[in-house]
Amino acid sequence: MAYQHDGDLTFAYRPSSGPWHFVLSVESHGPSAAAFNASLIIEGSTSQYVAEWLDRLVRCDPDALHVARVGSSDAPKLWHPCVRDDPESPSAIGGDGCVCRQTFRDPVTLLPVVAHHFRTVGGEIEEWRYLTYAPLALPEGERLSALVVDREATLFWVRTARGTLHLLPEDARSGGYGVGHRGAGTTDLAHLVQRIVTSGGRDVSAGKTRDPLNEKVYSWVTSRAADRTREIPLSRLEHLCRTGTPD
Ligand SMILES: [Zn+2]
Repeated sequence: MAYQHDGDLTFAYRPSSGPWHFVLSVESHGPSAAAFNASLIIEGSTSQYVAEWLDRLVRCDPDALHVARVGSSDAPKLWHPCVRDDPESPSAIGGDGCVCRQTFRDPVTLLPVVAHHFRTVGGEIEEWRYLTYAPLALPEGERLSALVVDREATLFWVRTARGTLHLLPEDARSGGYGVGHRGAGTTDLAHLVQRIVTSGGRDVSAGKTRDPLNEKVYSWVTSRAADRTREIPLSRLEHLCRTGTPD
């Protein structure tokens, strides 16, 4: 099912805007600060799901989506080479340290990924963190086969019926999903689980649900039993909605 926003954002095209006429801008017509996709930062994790996702990313030149993700002040750094390619790069520090940004695209969702390299001089510490956006829905025609709780990376994923891994759809108004505690993140996840089950795995779109909360689902999502890495097949999510546990 396609993502639907609340209608407070409108794509605007203004030929009268001079040299900027070619820019597709998004303007808010209400008090809401809503944008579209949720911004995510993935760091310090070696989870198998992060590794699987990183493995499919394709290196590309920086584009407008990468610029949007890092913001205008860091945007010029997207074009600075890694110290490994150019020891004279503006991102190089002390000969072999580095703070470069490298740009990738997820070939499945076409969403941008910016890999931020942090290497101290001498290489004692070398880390990467990845800035990206969550998708707003699964690709048209795809269906959830399992929900993945990835506690190592503090992320949630969807395994589709075709076997593809997606970050759990989330929009910019969300504060992130959660398990194992009571709060907005667990409420949002419980609502989404209910919607996934009701739609037979077809509706995994971001956005708030106005349906009443399924207390059985919420009780399990907020419990310690939910707070561990696991893949929960759709049939087990259905079981969860009926009985209050996926097991
Ligand atoms: Zn680098």
